[in-house]
Amino acid sequence: MNVLIFGPNGSGKGTQGAIVQKKYNVTHVESGVIFRDNIKKGTELGKKAKAYIDKGDLVPDDITIPMILNRLKENDCKNGWLLDGFPRNGEQAKALNKALSDAGIKLDFVIEILLDREIAKQRIMGRRICEKDGNHPNHVFIDAIKPAEKDGKQVCRVCGGALSARADDQDENAIKKRHDIYYDEKNGTLASVIFFKELSKKNNGVPVIIELDGTADIKTVSDELMKKLQ
Ligand code: AMP
Repeated sequence: MNVLIFGPNGSGKGTQGAIVQKKYNVTHVESGVIFRDNIKKGTELGKKAKAYIDKGDLVPDDITIPMILNRLKENDCKNGWLLDGFPRNGEQAKALNKALSDAGIKLDFVIEILLDREIAKQRIMGRRICEKDGNHPNHVFIDAIKPAEKDGKQVCRVCGGALSARADDQDENAIKKRHDIYYDEKNGTLASVIFFKELSKKNNGVPVIIELDGTADIKTVSDELMKKLQ
C-alpha cells in the first residue's frame, strides 16, 4: 500500500501517520526527518539544505525531488510506503506522479486532514510537552487533555510532571510561515493536494482520496481513517 498524507502543522498528521505506519507496516518516509538526519551527519545534502530549513523556507526542488525519489527506490519501500512532508508544491507533485508512473508503481491513497488555519494555530500554540513522558498529551485549549494545576502552575494531567512548550510552537512568525506554505493553493502544499484530486477524478478514483475532519479527537479521526483505508 502506497500512501500520501497531507495536513497543516497542528492537524495531527504526524500522529495519524504513525498509526497508519504501525497498522499497515509500511515504511514512513518523512522529508523533514531525512533533512534533519543529513544535517546531523554533516552530509553534503545536509549542508546545502540547512540554510533553507533554518529560515523555515522550502529546500529547492532540485535537491528535494531527487532525494525523495531515490529514497522510495530503497528496499524497505518495496512493500509500501507512507510519504509525509512531500510533495509540498505542484512541481513536486508532478515529479512524483511521473516517477511513479514511469516505475509502474501505484499510488493507492491520498489522505488529507482538513483543519481551519486559525484552529491549527491554536493547536500548535497550546501543545505542552510532559518532561517525564512524551506520550502524555497536554493541551491548554483542549478540555479533554487540559494540564492539571499544582501550586498555581500547570503540570502534566497524567503524571503531575513538569510541562514545557517547544520554542517553535510559540513563535507566531514561524507558524505563519509554515501555514503560508501549506494553505497556498497555487504554489504551496494545497496545490499538490489539488493535483492529486484532479488526477483521481481523471483516473476513475485512483488514487482514492480520503478527506478527514481534523477538528475531531485523535481516536475519532483514526477510526474514520481506518474505515476508509480498507
Ligand atoms: P517538516 O519536518 O516536514 O516541517 O520539514 C522541516 C523542513 O524541511 C521544512 O521547513 C523545509 O525547510 C524542509 N522540507 C521538508 N519537506 C520539504 C519538501 N517537500 N520540499 C522542500 N522543503 C522541505
